[in-house]
Amino acid sequence: APHYKVLIVGGGSAGIATAASILKRRRGLSLAIVEPREDHFYQPGWTMVGGGVFQQRDTVRKTAAVLPRGADWIRDAVSGFDPDANAVQLAGGMRVTYDILIVAMGNRLAWERIAGLEETLGRNGVTSNYRFDLAPYTWQLVQRMQRGRALFTQPPMPIKCAGAPQKAMYLSCSEWEKQGLLGNIEVEFHNAGGVLFGVPEYVPALMETVQRYGIGLNFESNLVAVDGPNRTATFRTPDGEVTRGFDMLHVVPPQEGNRVVAASPLADASGYAEVDAATMRHVRFANVFALGDGCNTGNAKTAAAARKQAPVVAVNALAALDGRDPVAAYDGYGSCPLTVDRGHIVLAEFTYGGKVSPTLPTWLIDGTRPSRLAWHLKADALPPIYWHGMLKGREWLVPPVPLQ
Ligand code: FAD
Repeated sequence: APHYKVLIVGGGSAGIATAASILKRRRGLSLAIVEPREDHFYQPGWTMVGGGVFQQRDTVRKTAAVLPRGADWIRDAVSGFDPDANAVQLAGGMRVTYDILIVAMGNRLAWERIAGLEETLGRNGVTSNYRFDLAPYTWQLVQRMQRGRALFTQPPMPIKCAGAPQKAMYLSCSEWEKQGLLGNIEVEFHNAGGVLFGVPEYVPALMETVQRYGIGLNFESNLVAVDGPNRTATFRTPDGEVTRGFDMLHVVPPQEGNRVVAASPLADASGYAEVDAATMRHVRFANVFALGDGCNTGNAKTAAAARKQAPVVAVNALAALDGRDPVAAYDGYGSCPLTVDRGHIVLAEFTYGGKVSPTLPTWLIDGTRPSRLAWHLKADALPPIYWHGMLKGREWLVPPVPLQ
């Protein structure tokens, strides 16, 4: 079986960033990335595609093009973990062994848990920015809509980018407002949870946005079924099932741990890889690390979090390779740029426990208020920071914090 000093599973945001960070620190190290997909996606851009700001093609590159120099690409999927033997099983039949394993497989979108949804996605006015191929359909629907009812849904937590369900709604409303159509369109938000946003400091600006657009708020309203041809959506609520007709429906799917991780000794009871919240090292296997959407840390599941986790995992993995203890700690930073209209963002940035933690001085961007500068950050600065900073392991961007 092939053997690598460092084996990374998953070539998404977290996997590529970590590989780049490790190889920057130790050139020539034997390292491979297992990733079945030929395409690498910038998912934070899909909100902007759905809002008519970015083109779909701005959010994708070839995996081969983002792979750091010096990394081997194993183009296959992992089908099983055998951490006691320091080995992974590949779907294609091969086994690969490692000294250090880094799990970065993301989470799983469970579309099938909403009855009738999969067969109508992309048709009958049913869309989702959570899929590359559907985000352009969101923008088409927004442009076509003249009157009627638009529903936006949010599933139970945890989900990746918990603000994205609202972002889709606000950017749609912003366009209808601009076209003078908002008065003819009834907009409803159906959130399985009980609050607009988990960190209270950001809620007032979001509530003002809801009022500005005249959005009907429904908490503890969980989408369970869609009938595309008849254009109805059914929600489970504390008062029983409620069915609403729609002209447009934007769905965010329920989310769960990656199935291969969930079925392995690496998972906790909820199906996510079980790591220490600071060092990102597995709690039972000292040569295993995990980061990104697929691990069980309590941060906001965002690319911004992965950007901070990657160098921490890189230095701790190298320490483990040298037989040393972890040296760096992750503070739980995550960020969610809430697009309240086309041109303004409420920039939520916070660490573990929902502690507000702005990167820039608040006189530049007050994250709790809509900001034009924050919009330019998201629309103009963050994509190049992603492709040319984070994925290249440029360390000045996020120096890892030493472990106390
Ligand atoms: P991913 O990037 O999803 O990568 C996981 C990789 O693992 C994939 O390439 C997959 O093919 C691979 N994989 C899966 N199974 C296997 C297997 N069995 N074997 C091998 N490989 C496997 N974040 C922000 O910071 N800001 C935002 O504004 C923002 N907006 C978002 C909007 C939307 C609509 C969405 C969907 C996400 C958004 N995010 C945002 C979240 C961000 O995209 C994720 O947090 C980030 O991509 C997580 O990186 P990851 O590497 O953990 O997972």
